Amino acid sequence: MQWFGRRESDNVDDERGGGGGRFAIGGGLLGLIGAAIYFFTGINPSAVLNQVTTNQPRQEQQANNGPEDEGKHFVRVVLADTEDIWTKLFNDMGRSYQKPRLTLFTDYVQSACGNASSATGPFYCPGDSRVYIDLSFYDELKNRLGAGGDFAQAYVIAHEVGHHVQNLLGISQKMDDARSRLSERAYNKLSVKLELQADFYAGVWAHYEQSMKNVLDKGDIEEALNAANAIGDDRLQKQAQGHVEPDSFTHGTSAQRMYWFKKGFETGDINQGDTFSNGDLN
Ligand SMILES: [Zn+2]
Repeated sequence: MQWFGRRESDNVDDERGGGGGRFAIGGGLLGLIGAAIYFFTGINPSAVLNQVTTNQPRQEQQANNGPEDEGKHFVRVVLADTEDIWTKLFNDMGRSYQKPRLTLFTDYVQSACGNASSATGPFYCPGDSRVYIDLSFYDELKNRLGAGGDFAQAYVIAHEVGHHVQNLLGISQKMDDARSRLSERAYNKLSVKLELQADFYAGVWAHYEQSMKNVLDKGDIEEALNAANAIGDDRLQKQAQGHVEPDSFTHGTSAQRMYWFKKGFETGDINQGDTFSNGDLN
């Protein structure tokens, strides 16, 4: 992805170093407030992979301050691209796009949806319309899940912004309403559809990265698809526990996540992202 020197979003808040690591170990999600919160993956990849790689020392966090902070520049450029593209797509629908904000954190963060540790991975909170990410997740994605590359990293942000789009379109509210009247199993099925739609929206975004921005490099789409493959519920569960429990899936299988990202990329048409009614692969 050609990102260096391009426009950076002003909607990124850097709260790194603020958490002090108090909840860094085994934290998971702490103090969750009723409202839904949308993660990038269904189960905590670091918990999964810590089991697999228990003897591996925790990676040193990169120094992340100052002008050398490439990760922050990258995130700001990707977020800026989502702003431009979703503003256009919302305009085409006769609506106005309200940009989300993005918080960079280390170890631990407070959101309107509750407090979370970086062990949960990146997430979106509809309550404050914010994407949250600890950039150390990118190390896990690359080194432990085998999904490296800048466009794999961009896909993570685009997926979370996809949840923001769902929030603006009223889909998150419908999910919250459904949650109170559905069994856990039925809600999980709905959650998969929501997550696959976020992957579809990420694919739509990638479509316009190519057709509108012309910033894709050869191999970028493969990087995103490889990441989608790496984080399927079936794959993560198999790694974690050796078998899969489809009733507990919340994000979809590797095949489903790749399918919907690719469909978004190929069509560039947000009207084709009705994962809730499509029978294929659901
Ligand atoms: Zn998600």
